[in-house]
Amino acid sequence: MRLCRFNDNRLGVVEGSEVYDVTAALDILPAYRYPLPHGDMLIAHLPAIRVRVTELMPSAARLPLSAVRLLSPVANPGKVIGAPVNYLKHLEEVREQRALNHGNASHSAPIHTAGVFLKATRSVVGPGEGVAVRLPDRRTDHEVELGLVIGRRASEVPVHEALSYVAGYVIGLDITIRGSEERSLRKSVDTYTVIGPWLVTADDIDTPGALDMRLTVNGEVRQQASTALLIMNCAELIAYASSFYTLEPGDILITGTPEGVSPIVPGDRIEASISQVGEMVVEVRPW
Ligand code: MN
Repeated sequence: MRLCRFNDNRLGVVEGSEVYDVTAALDILPAYRYPLPHGDMLIAHLPAIRVRVTELMPSAARLPLSAVRLLSPVANPGKVIGAPVNYLKHLEEVREQRALNHGNASHSAPIHTAGVFLKATRSVVGPGEGVAVRLPDRRTDHEVELGLVIGRRASEVPVHEALSYVAGYVIGLDITIRGSEERSLRKSVDTYTVIGPWLVTADDIDTPGALDMRLTVNGEVRQQASTALLIMNCAELIAYASSFYTLEPGDILITGTPEGVSPIVPGDRIEASISQVGEMVVEVRPW
């Protein structure tokens, strides 16, 4: 199932070139009071939501996919976990280009040395919201990544069980200011985490470790690779992250970017695709 959020916080199912409006399924979510529990409500209740969605679909209003504004399929992730330098050829380009490593050895350490990092959840947007370049004097790059959304609480999960904790997959753009500062600062600007175009539930993905991804800017191919080339694969990333953090439903793990990162500026049009997940268009604009 391809579950999207669109327009004014509506919930949809994408089939072909249409969106079925199943917003009424959200009525099954409990009424919460402060303090809210950890995790994203929609993802925490995804099995029951799916049942209700299936009931609603035959009578749901349909809209053309091209006419909706896509939001992040996860509205309230508790964490966005990033994987630095998780493709060998990206590691090589970071080591070779001072514009990428800024003489900071920690920028070009492989993932087993560098570990993972956190991005501010406030940076998350959907493809329809676009990227707003906040510091135009700084080099700002695109990074296309396979993202996975955690479906249930996970702590100290073994590698062989790790994929069973995945609710679904997304495309992630890890927009990054190059520079000497900590990753968590340079990658956490508002709009610098684009999640979309929808959540493809895990049962629809055969092998997350064999997906082709591609990113173009203004029609020119900049990044193209397979997730088969991940240094630390999806299951290993979940196991690793869950040995430090308790993962909650709705936590998003973006798995790292392949080679070909390059600058973006206001006016650019990014198209990103991952096989079996989908494709999305993201406009870059001034702050
Ligand atoms: Mn990245």
